[in-house]
Amino acid sequence: MATYITADCINCGACEPECPNEAISEGDETYVIDPELCTECVGFYDHEACQAVCPVECCLPDPKHAEEEALLLERALRLHPDDDVLKGRATQDARPFCQVVGRAPASQTSANLRWHARRSGAAMKTYLGVLAALVLGVPLLGCSASDSLSSFGGPPTGDASAPGSPGKGGSTGGSGDDFVDLGPGDPPPAESAGGAQSAQVGAGVLTAGIWDDALNYSFFDKYLATTAAVPGAPAFSSAEYDAAAAEFAPGQRSPHSAVDAAIVLDTTGSMGDELRYLTAEFASISKAVADKFPGASQRWSLVLYRDAGDEYVVKSFDFTGDPRAFTATLGAQAAGGGGDIPESPEKGLAALSQLGWRSGGDVAKVAFWVGDAPHHTENASAMKQAIVGAHQRGIHVYPVASSGVDDLLERTMRSAALVTGGRYLFLTDDSGVGNAHQEPKIPCYFVTKLQRSLVRVVASELAGTPEALAPADILRTTGSPTPEGLCATASGDTVQIF
Ligand code: SF4
Ligand code: SF4
Repeated sequence: MATYITADCINCGACEPECPNEAISEGDETYVIDPELCTECVGFYDHEACQAVCPVECCLPDPKHAEEEALLLERALRLHPDDDVLKGRATQDARPFCQVVGRAPASQTSANLRWHARRSGAAMKTYLGVLAALVLGVPLLGCSASDSLSSFGGPPTGDASAPGSPGKGGSTGGSGDDFVDLGPGDPPPAESAGGAQSAQVGAGVLTAGIWDDALNYSFFDKYLATTAAVPGAPAFSSAEYDAAAAEFAPGQRSPHSAVDAAIVLDTTGSMGDELRYLTAEFASISKAVADKFPGASQRWSLVLYRDAGDEYVVKSFDFTGDPRAFTATLGAQAAGGGGDIPESPEKGLAALSQLGWRSGGDVAKVAFWVGDAPHHTENASAMKQAIVGAHQRGIHVYPVASSGVDDLLERTMRSAALVTGGRYLFLTDDSGVGNAHQEPKIPCYFVTKLQRSLVRVVASELAGTPEALAPADILRTTGSPTPEGLCATASGDTVQIF
């Protein structure tokens, strides 16, 4: 069947140049697909190129235009009569699809499953299997080893100009408008309202824990001692740590009526999973915050960083109050470059100072630093300066440690969180997405969905007090804590989970 674009389209324009048949164009309200030109990419790709780049996954099979593959192929040949490569592929019938082999409702959700199944590798297959089993109650998907991913859409297209410029529904950054209801743009899977289901692992949602070293400062002191020999760590003095611990001790934080939140994101090649899932989850994060704090103004900005010698080292997008524009910006980015293990996170954090943060004590300033690689050891001083600079601007840095974190990055991230008044977030293996995640050097923690963790962080910043976790939010627990989150360390001390 042909593909169509749903009303969820945010008019980012990312799909238009991807179509091999020029079937996509701007319509009155959203981008549209001409079914007479759409071939489901048959003859060109083993996936639908428009859906592969769509940040809100709104390019779906059109049930009104059910068409056999032979017809789609004939159309492709008719549209490209001089394309010898296409003719060659046609004779080989080379389009290995991963098909849904089980029963699923004839709905957009089942359509989404089918799209996802064509799109990605083992991580996505895990996602789909769990999603089907837990949410839809359908048999798992059958994908043969021959399901080719080799031509999976490549990196999303677009650059700094893409999200803000072409959209009819989006706006450019810096508007200062409040975040409001995202309407139908929320990407699947949605968290269920009931709680029990929302506590299930799966649905492709990343999972995370949170640790607050200011809440457990004596434990942090011992952690510093055990990691003192890690080369390249930012050289904060004991007095600097002590001052930060006192400044951000329990009870010292104030409520806020607005939030400026920056995402500082490592976009080197190993971060592809995080980038894709963060894009998919952002809309639900901002909506959850808006639902919880309907009067609170939200603005979001984005800082991307890689490393010297890559396509760019730092690229920034200033604050916007338009969630659709921000989602589009995020969705238009691609992971690439890198190479050696260290990257340039210190430059990403330093770029926070260039953003248009609102002034005033009623605005919570938050930066989510998402990365999986440390700075180059020779840049330890620059990393310290970047963290100090964030603190001086009142920006609370919340690192989100991703797969591949090593001892230097954990120590740097936890130092950044403590010194600036943030907390240490770390992705876990529970989602089944991405590579293995290193266990943090803490005695106990709760695992929740990453979406829940991020919303909780913003909610805690707005409220000025930690938002409690409901039991239904907790997917897994380590370290045998009490229901209140207290647990014993190996040395017999008691610590508190945030
Ligand atoms: S499915 Fe392929 S051919 Fe159809 S509109 Fe999307 S990109 Fe174009
Ligand atoms: S949201 Fe962007 S990529 Fe998706 S259909 Fe609309 S214009 Fe195309």
